[in-house]
Amino acid sequence: MSTNSHRKVETGYEVLVIGGGSAGLSAAMTFGRMRRKVLVCDDNQPRNLPSAHMNNFPGYDGASPIEWRKNVRRELEKYSTIQFHSDRVVNILQSESGFSVILESGQKTSVEKVLLAYGIRDQLPDIPGFKELWGQSVVHCPYCHGFEFQDKPLALFGDGDGAMHMLPLLLGLSEDILLFTQGPSQLNEAQKQKIRSQKIQIIEAPIQSLAYTGPQLEAIVLDNGERIARTALYLLTQFPLVRSAKIGQELGCKVNDFGLYETDTFGKTSVANVYAAGDITSIYGQSVLLSAATGSAAAARIVAELLIQKANF
Ligand SMILES: Cc1cc2nc3c(=O)[nH]c(=O)nc-3n(C[C@H](O)[C@H](O)[C@H](O)COP(=O)(O)OP(=O)(O)OC[C@H]3O[C@@H](n4cnc5c(N)ncnc54)[C@H](O)[C@@H]3O)c2cc1C
Repeated sequence: MSTNSHRKVETGYEVLVIGGGSAGLSAAMTFGRMRRKVLVCDDNQPRNLPSAHMNNFPGYDGASPIEWRKNVRRELEKYSTIQFHSDRVVNILQSESGFSVILESGQKTSVEKVLLAYGIRDQLPDIPGFKELWGQSVVHCPYCHGFEFQDKPLALFGDGDGAMHMLPLLLGLSEDILLFTQGPSQLNEAQKQKIRSQKIQIIEAPIQSLAYTGPQLEAIVLDNGERIARTALYLLTQFPLVRSAKIGQELGCKVNDFGLYETDTFGKTSVANVYAAGDITSIYGQSVLLSAATGSAAAARIVAELLIQKANF
């Protein structure tokens, strides 16, 4: 793999992978092992970058996400047909032989197939402390960041059916949970009763800010000045998800109600020769491991298509 981001990109790649997170890196390895000529473009903003630890990935449980990416990039070095380029893909146009690609640096290239692996962008409420603590003690996923907060005072920021889904998961970690709805709740009476039966208080008074020291949440400060001690706050993910780029949309790929690309099991989108993998394809697959799996599956499918076509079988 060539990693020189200043090197000029070549032309005539078989595949462009957009994104070098877990989906894109895993795809790159599969392509490399089958000697396909592939360009991986990445602007280095993977979703878990704010977190110091990457959990729930066998063999790497608790590892640094930055170190994990470095390790994968090192492993990819032996695959000389993979070119890694630190640049943002800004535009792709369909051409007779495939796609013409324009990068933010102004460079252009051409590819036969495209794998979208550019992830999503989390949307944080505009409340002081959320951005500062994101990925540390303000988190979204109990599987990624839950075990570390077991039996601690926890908060959920959210409302409605999403809160009804998340609260039972949090009850598996701690008995001390508060629900913050940031205004009058949309929960119906039956839902409120279920929540209260688990000794979870529903707090509708808006949060004014989060008090913290370093990466550690200490208290939730309400508009009325009340200060409530908490160790971690879970933020409910909002749908539709915001994808990190509009390239798939501009190519005409169908998107579902969750904001994700519609694909088959192997990442094939509704547009010929365009595939997708990782967080932009599944609400259930939003983890490093599952994104890596979809990247690998999509790459295997693309490799098979390329080679079957070349062999004229
Ligand atoms: C705070 C936080 C902590 C998390 N912790 C964990 C954890 O502990 N364990 C776990 O399993 N999961 C964790 N996750 C989930 C995990 O980060 C994602 O599921 C995973 O990163 C998705 O991989 P991906 O390859 O789809 O996207 P990403 O990892 O987000 O990678 C996408 C890449 O594409 C790049 N990109 C975007 N647009 C373009 C473009 N136009 N051109 C070029 N490049 C582009 C981005 O900069 C980025 O580098 C966490 C998520 C968050 C938000």
